[in-house]
Amino acid sequence: MLSDRLRRWVFIAGLTAVWIAPATAQTSPAPRMEQRKIADNVFMMENSTGSSNAAFVVTDDGVLVWDADIRTAPQVLAAIRRTTDKKVRYVALSHAAGDHATGVWHYREDKPIVIGTRKQLRDLYMQEGAQFSERKASGKPEDAAYANAELVIPDIAFEGSLTLRFGGLTMQFTEEGSAHSTSDVTLYIPQKRVFLAGDLLNTEIHPGQGESAGVFYSNVKNWVGLLDNIIARRLPVDTYVPGHGPAHVGRGIADIEEQRRYFIVMRDEVSKMLAAGKSVQQVQAEFTLPAEFAHYKRPARLKNFLNLFYHQLIEQGFWP
Ligand SMILES: [Zn+2]
Repeated sequence: MLSDRLRRWVFIAGLTAVWIAPATAQTSPAPRMEQRKIADNVFMMENSTGSSNAAFVVTDDGVLVWDADIRTAPQVLAAIRRTTDKKVRYVALSHAAGDHATGVWHYREDKPIVIGTRKQLRDLYMQEGAQFSERKASGKPEDAAYANAELVIPDIAFEGSLTLRFGGLTMQFTEEGSAHSTSDVTLYIPQKRVFLAGDLLNTEIHPGQGESAGVFYSNVKNWVGLLDNIIARRLPVDTYVPGHGPAHVGRGIADIEEQRRYFIVMRDEVSKMLAAGKSVQQVQAEFTLPAEFAHYKRPARLKNFLNLFYHQLIEQGFWP
């Protein structure tokens, strides 16, 4: 016989099933974005599914937004409106991928200046622009966010580095190079001891292949090199904000070092397997993660990444 307590649980479970069913049957809703405080007036919007994060910085002179995904930018804008009455003055892009660079249109009411790099500009004009138009016209439920929107191209397209003095802060943009995308940009704000790393940093989740309109740009060798450059700066930073995954406030450079170790482990293991004559399928099946990375989310991303990396090692030669 069911105890009262158990009966109550069964009842609640039944209700939950009823509540969930209609939600999943509809066209997929945008992932929930959770507002997290990183430092005074610096906030990250964490994507609850592990997809792209965004961030914003509030100053007396207005707001700077970091990254905009067309599917989640409305939630970021709503969070900004809840947090401050200041307008969005700047939107800056970490890279040109769809999940980071398609949502600028949602800020149009505030007429922000959009900051990117020349290479990002080119990507947005070319393959990203074509994909945006395709999705806008597709009529598919998963592309609904594109239907009435426009792709906004950067107003300022820099190369190398750019310093923006804004609201009493120094915003140091660095085009780190090409490791995850064709042009990976970071933003360091010394007064806040914060470093927005874009997709060069993924926390508790496997890194992505750097997809841009069906082509994969992630390059492990370059990625390790760019992380080395960031580590070598020894910046006085409390928090490196990831492009995917939760922010570890106060963990500092340990997050960047963990990302670097991840790729070193992958490099060494996959090189060994290649030297032993393993096929890509064997590498995908036999590659085992050290305990440090075992809790990372989205294992499917690892499997795809191994395929990409396997062929990179053949193209570039095995590492020592
Ligand atoms: Zn991303």
